[in-house]
Amino acid sequence: MKEFDYIIIGGGCAGLSLAYELETHEKLKDKTLAIIEPRPKYKRDKTWSFWKVTSHNFDDCVKKSWENFSINVPGKTNYLKCKDYPYQSIDSGLFYEKINNKLKKNNNISFFKDISEINKKNSFIFNSVPIIKKNHLNLWQHFCGVEIKTKDNFFDEGIFNLMDFDCEQRESVHFFYTLPYSKNKALVETTWLSKINDASQKDYDIQIKDYIEKHLKLKNYEITYKEEGAIPLFHPLNEKEKNKINIGTAGGMTRLSTGYTFLNIQEHSKFIRKNFENISNCKKFEISKKYQFLDDIFLRVLNNHPEKMSDIFFEMFKASPKTVIKFLSNKSNFFEDFKIILKMPKQTFIKALFY
Ligand SMILES: Cc1cc2nc3c(=O)[nH]c(=O)nc-3n(C[C@H](O)[C@H](O)[C@H](O)COP(=O)(O)OP(=O)(O)OC[C@H]3O[C@@H](n4cnc5c(N)ncnc54)[C@H](O)[C@@H]3O)c2cc1C
Repeated sequence: MKEFDYIIIGGGCAGLSLAYELETHEKLKDKTLAIIEPRPKYKRDKTWSFWKVTSHNFDDCVKKSWENFSINVPGKTNYLKCKDYPYQSIDSGLFYEKINNKLKKNNNISFFKDISEINKKNSFIFNSVPIIKKNHLNLWQHFCGVEIKTKDNFFDEGIFNLMDFDCEQRESVHFFYTLPYSKNKALVETTWLSKINDASQKDYDIQIKDYIEKHLKLKNYEITYKEEGAIPLFHPLNEKEKNKINIGTAGGMTRLSTGYTFLNIQEHSKFIRKNFENISNCKKFEISKKYQFLDDIFLRVLNNHPEKMSDIFFEMFKASPKTVIKFLSNKSNFFEDFKIILKMPKQTFIKALFY
């Protein structure tokens, strides 16, 4: 069986981002790489959005970028600007196409459907397949989004809605998220932060239909694309092993309070590329302990007091948007962290420290 210097298990966001970063920095000129990916065909399956707090390789896959956003709870709306850190949405179809076109030009890179097709004994492995054991205590961000096209102009494409809590909460945390790509096209997503075991929250189609027709008061539209997913708001069980690094969700790149993962994956890829020659001995790349600690408390509050979360999110965005964005994107300094902490209900958070 064929041997390779490196193996990437999982050719999804993290696996392909890493392969692209290595290839464009000529790290695979004299080294061989196998990418293990079982999917029969690449097609658009996700929309990755984030505040652009750092550069990345995929500006040409950005579907739309915004400098204004809003957040609302029943009866109140906060309009915010994010000119310094625009919010970008990446089309996964364009991302897969761009990377695969680049990788196929290098004969040192091969794709396989299953790891059993190659000999992995002497390879260094980058693994992006998470080990997730079902546990009734774990929280998830689970969602379903549809892209809709309207007959007449309807949306203001200059502003996106990050969180609309003016909807049924069902003793959980629930909001809608709307990304208007143009005046007559938008992604409308229903999002839950909960212990996924409540099947009654998964009537996504009805939730979306009701929101579009009764809340947005839009009747004349067609659904052109649909995506559904669940992001674990806990770290998978993958341990670091000799000659193996976990990447992506498996590598703990999800910011647990928000589910944002894409930019962390890009930063991890850059880190690996910079340390590639000494990869067996380099330190572990992780989201800073400060955020891990704060997110842990935040999720305990969310778990214990789902009814308070819409106001907590709303209040948090009363700090300057730049500060909140930096905080949510792991780029805040001590003073900015402090400004966010001041916006939180003190008693609730202090109590969460102890149970
Ligand atoms: C629908 C959706 C939307 C999201 N939107 C955002 C967003 O807007 N912003 C953001 O920051 N994050 C978002 N995320 C979170 C995160 O960015 C994505 O989940 C991202 O795809 C994670 O990258 P990954 O490489 O870890 O996992 P994936 O992209 O899922 O890649 C894992 C790959 O492993 C393959 N695989 C599975 N089993 C095996 C096996 N046994 N052997 C080999 N390969 C295998 C899979 O086919 C897949 O291609 C979203 C997640 C989902 C599900």
